[in-house]
Amino acid sequence: MSNSKGVKHESFFKNVEKYFDHAGQFTKIPSGLLNQIKVCNSVYKMKFPVKVGNEYQVLEAYRVQHSHHRVPTKGGIRYSEGVNQDEVMALAALMTYKCAIVDVPFGGAKGGIKINPRDYNEAQLQRITRRYTAELIKKNFIGPAIDVPAPDYGTGEREMAWILDTYLAFHPESIDGYGCVTGKPVSLNGIRGRREATGRGVFFGVREAVNIKKDMNEIGLSTGLEGKRIIIQGLGNVGYHSANFFQEAGAILVGFCEIEGAIYNKNGIDLAELTKWRKETGSIMDFPKAKNLNSSWEGLEQECDILIPAALENVITKDNAPRIKAKIIGEAANGPVTAEAQEILLKKGVYIIPDLYLNAGGVTVSYFEWLKNLSHVRFGRMDKRFTQYAFENVVDVIEKLTNKSISKKEKSIIARGAEEIDLVDSGLEETMVTAFYGIRDVWKKHRKIEDMRTAAFVTAINKVADAYVAMGIFP
Ligand code: NAD
Repeated sequence: MSNSKGVKHESFFKNVEKYFDHAGQFTKIPSGLLNQIKVCNSVYKMKFPVKVGNEYQVLEAYRVQHSHHRVPTKGGIRYSEGVNQDEVMALAALMTYKCAIVDVPFGGAKGGIKINPRDYNEAQLQRITRRYTAELIKKNFIGPAIDVPAPDYGTGEREMAWILDTYLAFHPESIDGYGCVTGKPVSLNGIRGRREATGRGVFFGVREAVNIKKDMNEIGLSTGLEGKRIIIQGLGNVGYHSANFFQEAGAILVGFCEIEGAIYNKNGIDLAELTKWRKETGSIMDFPKAKNLNSSWEGLEQECDILIPAALENVITKDNAPRIKAKIIGEAANGPVTAEAQEILLKKGVYIIPDLYLNAGGVTVSYFEWLKNLSHVRFGRMDKRFTQYAFENVVDVIEKLTNKSISKKEKSIIARGAEEIDLVDSGLEETMVTAFYGIRDVWKKHRKIEDMRTAAFVTAINKVADAYVAMGIFP
């Protein structure tokens, strides 16, 4: 197999299996159970016709449910020319481990249609999405209790809305039908904060990593995000929002790589200005406050402290790994570093924050959205005012007891009930921070575990194994 640069690498699923097998030896789980956890439980490959202009095209698509140890299964839907069975299986497997790490009670799944969405207009994409959903319905591969898709590369709220509408048309009696898909627009019972959730999660994960003095000393970096030089690959949903949170925290965005090429400025590139430029010109290239690089790939190899690949898998291979200068790689995308590249990078002392932890913010908030859909009420609706009044009473008592008055502005800051977005952000931060320290504990306390990815796999495998044992399927 080869990536879009033409560099040969192992299959993505084999890579995930390699990581799994390596981590498996640090668990006490019998090999039969390890094998059961590793395999994909259901693989559905479909072909269906779609009328495009005056011709019919036969499209190839997939839905893979990696693990039924918990249901529903959950995972995004990808639209890309690179979609194939191996890729969808790998992404589904990562979803199982990701959900386990952040204690989201789902099995892993993933779907994909082998198309370049840029080749179709909106009406055609709608037809394709609805037809794909109908195929999933026919085979019982979608439903709030069965399998719940979400956005991934090449899809977003718009596609999720089409999926929902198609599902509801076939299941008008389903009172929980809105929970058949997440990442929906808020106006269709989506949840505030889902759009930026993966990027926000990436930010929390990197922030925790750089705040630990001992770990930063080991790689020769100071603590904190302020002043850290960051390169972002992929300015889509995950890349854009990650970049935004990093910039807000005082990091310097020194480089960006997109399909059309890469740009670099050691003094920093303002994200809002670049986004405006890209909107106007259709490209990040020739941005007046940065220099063009010869290719998108060159962007990955520039001077920086932190590299955030947020596009696709297999972009850091044994070919370019020796030239990577970053001291930290935060895997916002799934599978950006091949197993062979990881070996090289670890030898160079690079700190890799692995995908199965770092980009779990998306599925975490998708879980919140699913809970909202099943409970049929917006988070914060029942208790916002109650909390506000309770705090106001406390403030009144403090004023009385101290004989001092608190200004209206201060009062409004103290006496505030939580909105949906506050609860989502707080739940996401809690999840990402707790998971980080859970994985780091395994990493630092086990003498033979040398990297964070292995620790993340060990954590995930142990949790999935516990579910199988509790079911009585394995001793
Ligand atoms: P997206 O489609 O919104 O954005 C991807 C961006 O990457 C696009 O702008 C595209 O032009 C760019 N890109 C593609 N190939 C590139 C290349 N070779 N070099 C530079 N840029 C390139 O997709 P997304 O939802 O942001 O997903 C990105 C990655 O994050 C994927 O690996 C996905 O599986 C993972 N992920 C996404 C979510 C989510 O909530 N969307 C959650 C978890 C993980």
